Amino acid sequence: MAKALYDKDSNKKALKGKTVAVLGYGSQGHAHAQNLRDSGVSVIVGLHEGSRSRATAEKDGFQVYTPAEATKRADIVMFLMPDHMQGPVYRESVAPNLKKGAALAFAHGFAVHFGQIQAPRENDVFMVAPKGPGHLVRRMYTEGRGVPCLLAVEQDASGKAGEIGLAYACAIGGGRAGVLSTTFTEETETDLFGEQAVLCGGITELIKAGFDTLVDAGYQPEIAYFECLNEMKLIVDLMYEGGLSWMRYSVSDTAKYGDLTAGKKIVDEHTRSAMKELLGKVQDGSFAKDWILENQCGRPRLKKWMQTEKAHPIEAVGKELRSMMPWMDAKSAPEA
Ligand code: NDP
Ligand code: MG
Repeated sequence: MAKALYDKDSNKKALKGKTVAVLGYGSQGHAHAQNLRDSGVSVIVGLHEGSRSRATAEKDGFQVYTPAEATKRADIVMFLMPDHMQGPVYRESVAPNLKKGAALAFAHGFAVHFGQIQAPRENDVFMVAPKGPGHLVRRMYTEGRGVPCLLAVEQDASGKAGEIGLAYACAIGGGRAGVLSTTFTEETETDLFGEQAVLCGGITELIKAGFDTLVDAGYQPEIAYFECLNEMKLIVDLMYEGGLSWMRYSVSDTAKYGDLTAGKKIVDEHTRSAMKELLGKVQDGSFAKDWILENQCGRPRLKKWMQTEKAHPIEAVGKELRSMMPWMDAKSAPEA
C-alpha cells in the first residue's frame, strides 16, 4: 500500500516567508487562496485584465494583480486557470517574470505532462492535486477536515520541492485527510482516463441508454428518470461508504442477482477494449492534441455537442422533477 502523509509529516516552516501567487480564482483558485491564507501563508491572486473573478477575489480580501505582476512577487506560482490556458499564460506572463528559484505549482498535470509548459531547469515544479471539487476543498477545511491530495514533483531544483509541496498540501487541508505521492504522468493519464471512460463519459452514456430503453418501450419518462439517474446517487453513496460489497449487501437479493447476471453483458469485452483504446489515446498524447486544437479553433465541436446533449429529454424531465423535491438544492447549468 502506498504510504499516505499527514500534517505531522510536514515541515510547517517550509512555506515561511514565501508568497504564493494563485493564478485563477475559480473552483480550485478560491479554495486554495482562502485555505492557504487561513493557514497563515502569504497569498496574492493573479487574474487577467477584465476577469470576471476579480471582483470576487477582491471582495474576499485578496490583493489582485495581473498574472505577470503576481508572478514577479511570488515564490510559488500556482496555476489554477483552465488547463488549456496554462501554456499561453505561462509563455506570455509567467516565464518572463519568474523569480529566480521560484516554484511552479499545479493542481493537474496536463500542461506540464503534454509539454505545454517547459519550465527552466533551475525552478522547482510540483503538483498538489486535491481529489475533490474546489467548493469541497474550502468547505471541508473550514470544518476542520480536508480533501485528500496527490503530490508529485516533476523538477526538484532546490532539493526541497517535495517538502514545499507537502507543506502546501497541508496548508490547504490535505494533510488532515492524507497526501499520496504520484508522478505527473500517472496523475494526468489516470485523471483523463477516469473522466472519459468512467466518471463523466461512461456514466452519462450509461444513464441515457438506460433512460432511452425504458422510454422507447413505453414507460413514463418520470419513472425512467428516477430509476436511471436519481437513484444513481443512492447507489454511488453506498459504494463510496463501503465499496461494491456494501452496496450489494444493502440492496435486495433480487437486485444482487440481477446485478451479477446482467452487468457483464453491459460492460462486455467490447467496452473493455474501447477503454483500452481511450487509454492509448491519452498515453500517446493524441487526446491532448485534439483538445488543444479544439480550443484553438474556438471549441466548435464542443459547443455543438453540448447543445445536443442539453436537448436530450432526460434533461427536461429531470428539471421538472427536481423542482418538485424541495429538500434538494437543485442546480441549473449556465448557458455555455
Ligand atoms: P475554473 O474554470 O473554475 O477557474 C478558472 C479561473 O481562471 C477563473 O477565475 C478565470 O477567471 C481564471 N482565468 C481565466 N483565464 C485566465 C488567465 N489568462 N489568467 C489568469 N486567470 C485566468 O478552473 P478550475 O478551478 O476547475 O481548474 C483549475 C485547475 O485545477 C485545473 O488545472 C484543473 O484541472 C485543476 N483541478 C480542478 C478540479 C475541480 O474540481 N474543478 C479538481 C482538481 C484539479 P474568469 O472568471 O475571469 O474567467
Ligand atoms: Mg479531471
